[in-house]
Amino acid sequence: MKVLVPVKRVLDYNVKARVKSDQSGVDLSNVKMSMNPFDEIAVEQAVRLQEAGTASETVVVSIGPAKAQETIRTALAMGIDRGIHVETDEDLEPLAVAKILKAVAEAEGPELVILGKQAIDNDHGATGGMFAALMDWPLGSAANSMEKEGDSFTVVKEVDGGLQTVKLELPAVVTTDLRLNEPRYASLPNIMKAKRKPIDAKTPADFGVDTAPRLKTLKVTEPAAREAGIKVEDVATLVDKLKNEAGVI
Ligand code: AMP
Repeated sequence: MKVLVPVKRVLDYNVKARVKSDQSGVDLSNVKMSMNPFDEIAVEQAVRLQEAGTASETVVVSIGPAKAQETIRTALAMGIDRGIHVETDEDLEPLAVAKILKAVAEAEGPELVILGKQAIDNDHGATGGMFAALMDWPLGSAANSMEKEGDSFTVVKEVDGGLQTVKLELPAVVTTDLRLNEPRYASLPNIMKAKRKPIDAKTPADFGVDTAPRLKTLKVTEPAAREAGIKVEDVATLVDKLKNEAGVI
């Protein structure tokens, strides 16, 4: 079984985003970028499937600028076999990404595609669902665990108030939630080995799909600064303030 894992290069989750002065977007110059955390979990899952003998080949694909190659190398150092880099400087919307992923999936023929449930930069949380719909494949979103049984996967999904267990016939799409696994750190020998693993270079034009944006960003602003907290004398004052000032009880 071949497993395809789409990975996105995003602003590192430890870095505080700075909005550009013209409010056109987040300033990404000279800041640390990393693999989207949910995609690290997807990579880890694919590598574990291969280690368990369930996956025969693992491939990552990243659509993004030249530096997305670094993100692909990180996945290769974690144990993925090879990479595909679709180079573009445009920040493509989920539908455009999903269309490119469909073309890649048609060329590669994976039986399982594992995506992150959401990219932490734009929080769309849409690509996995759109990709599954375009492929007409079943989707197990927000996976908390997944296990192969014959020609299907049993996926336990995180849902409001609990866990839902679903069965997906292969080929299928799964999106990762935080508790699916804990991604490994790449060891130095594996980082060295990853340098020799192949990365195919492509561009969106190679796939002949319409990637034009459907959204227009009007402005991006920073969240309102939080007001400083205050200390109160006693519980009675706290209750009084919650009731009469904050109006929350
Ligand atoms: P989103 O719908 O933008 O929140 O992204 C959800 C998931 O889709 C991510 O966690 C990735 O697995 C995948 N994805 C989104 N954008 C890209 C991209 N540019 N290249 C590769 N995978 C992507």
